[in-house]
Amino acid sequence: MSEARKMNADRFGVPAESMIFARNVRKTFGALEVLKGVDLDVPKGSVACIIGPSGSGKSTFLRCMNHLEKLTGGIILVDGDFVGYDLVGDKLYELRENQLCRRRAEIGMLFQSFNLFSHMTVMENLIQAPVQVRGTHVEQAKEEAAALLARVGLSDKEAAYPRQLSGGQQQRVAIARALAMKPKVLLFDEPTSALDPELVGEVLGAMRDLAESGMTMVVVTHEIAFAREIGDQLVFMDQGQIVERGNPREMINDPQSPRTREFLSRVL
Ligand code: ADP
Ligand code: MG
Repeated sequence: MSEARKMNADRFGVPAESMIFARNVRKTFGALEVLKGVDLDVPKGSVACIIGPSGSGKSTFLRCMNHLEKLTGGIILVDGDFVGYDLVGDKLYELRENQLCRRRAEIGMLFQSFNLFSHMTVMENLIQAPVQVRGTHVEQAKEEAAALLARVGLSDKEAAYPRQLSGGQQQRVAIARALAMKPKVLLFDEPTSALDPELVGEVLGAMRDLAESGMTMVVVTHEIAFAREIGDQLVFMDQGQIVERGNPREMINDPQSPRTREFLSRVL
């Protein structure tokens, strides 16, 4: 463990196996309080699923985890590090852009809109970041990319452009592209919400394979069946707060909060 990580762990009481450690996270946009003190623990190798109504702050919370949003209060440590800061003594210093990029490269993020580079082939999409950000040799990046495409069942699409692929295939390419950076954790923000219903399964299947391979994942989703089957914990957010959390099966079968019950009855 690095010195900084060990210091953070001691100071904040971060468990040894923690990948995401969030405490009292607050976020405001002007007068709007979007996150009102949110805690989350995601141990390494586990899958946390976050559900909740539209506008409850799920995306904002996810974006805070890779410092796409700056916290108004509280802390988030990813594998023991602040993503956007270094702690020196009692002060947090904001990282410079290139350091921030390096730390962020370890956190993969998948969106509802697949966000592939439309002017690049699938292969070019996959090798771009490893070559540009990590300085991986092109030939090696291509070899690794080919293996990742095989893993998501798209070996025959190396030369295709995103527009030539279905939504499900594009999202699987996006997953492979995220994996090409060898992330410690993957954050998914409603990865199947933009897909036609018949294409949802292939993306969830790729995500299930990832989970089974031991990848740590935080998944904002409306796919309750996926959360029940794959999730190690389920978190229900409403109005910027975590209302209930627990074992997905137990929570779905027997929600304790009336708000959780009401939400589940609408999406199940
Ligand atoms: P969810 O993902 O659960 O639907 P969001 O995190 O996207 O919720 O949004 C929570 C609230 O924060 C919403 O009211 C949204 O309008 C507001 N919000 C999100 N991002 C911004 C922003 N950049 N500026 C102002 N308000 C925002
Ligand atoms: Mg959202």
